[in-house]
Amino acid sequence: MKEEKKEIKYDVVIIGAGPAGLGAAIYASRSNLSTIVFEKGLVGGQIVQTAEVENYPGFDETVSGYEIVSKMQAQALRFNTKIVQEEVTAISPEGLCKIIETDSGTIYRAKAVIFCAGAHPRKLAVPGEQKFTGRGVSYCATCDGALYRGKKVAVIGGGDSAVEEAIFLTKFAEKVYLIHRRDKLRAVHAIQHRAFQNSKIEYIWDTVVKEIEGDNVLKNLVLYNRVTGNTSNLAVNGVFIYIGIIPHNELIESSVELDSEGFILTDKYRHTNIPGFFAAGDIIHKVLRQVVTAVSDGATAAFSAEKWIEDNLDHFK
Ligand code: NAP
Repeated sequence: MKEEKKEIKYDVVIIGAGPAGLGAAIYASRSNLSTIVFEKGLVGGQIVQTAEVENYPGFDETVSGYEIVSKMQAQALRFNTKIVQEEVTAISPEGLCKIIETDSGTIYRAKAVIFCAGAHPRKLAVPGEQKFTGRGVSYCATCDGALYRGKKVAVIGGGDSAVEEAIFLTKFAEKVYLIHRRDKLRAVHAIQHRAFQNSKIEYIWDTVVKEIEGDNVLKNLVLYNRVTGNTSNLAVNGVFIYIGIIPHNELIESSVELDSEGFILTDKYRHTNIPGFFAAGDIIHKVLRQVVTAVSDGATAAFSAEKWIEDNLDHFK
């Protein structure tokens, strides 16, 4: 006889335990909604890799991303959120409920889902990138920066991440080359201003990396200047790649409305086009991706989920 799988019921299922997911969890569980958060990796999301956060309100000194999310996690647990390390493998509707399956084989039933699966770093996709990952190529200055004490490194990109991490790397490296494909940075002015004042950072404008070379470890970047058409070599010990993020939308891309880059479209309530399915954080289409906007999205999504459950109580009886 086929064994029936046990179904575990929650009011709110949150997928992803970064700042958006934890923000949503704090608001949902504090409202007495039974709340579970699934995280397939480490709790905290991308911000865990940031050594110094300057602009998260409430801290008068810089604080690490890890410290911020540790406090959020403790706060969510205090309100009885359950946080489990399971990967969600499928989400499907059943009436107004959502059925969530995870890699543990467990089936969960939720009245509302808040999707906060975040994003991951975009790859350069040039020869040598894969070969030298972990041997000179890195996507995390916080994790690997200290390995380059007194050495020369390059950072690729012109956004907030590239410029902030270039500044961070000057703590260790003797020289940081910031290589950007245009002649203007995309990063916000406050970050640009600090970078331009840092004498250890040298800018290489209008330039892209064509190839990453070395023997056992990375030794050289082959550069191409898009304006002059010249190719040149840059001897460095490490390269940190910060050229944007790709949303983790695989689970929902065929059912939820996305923008042209794959980020989820939500309304101001953080509701997607699917009833009872909300989204928050880096995975949604928005203008500002910060910890503060992620937690704010999470709070809004939890508030909206609570209202949505109340409005549809008859369906859940
Ligand atoms: P981003 O803002 O999308 O910037 C990506 C950068 O990489 C751009 O300068 C882009 O050049 C360049 N780029 C893209 N593809 C490239 C390629 N194939 N080759 C070379 N260069 C390429 O990404 P991000 O800096 O990772 O930031 C992601 C989000 O997090 C943003 O919303 C950002 O504001 C936020 N963030 C905030 C903070 C903070 O406030 N403390 C810190 C980090 C990140 P173009 O400029 O020419 O497009």
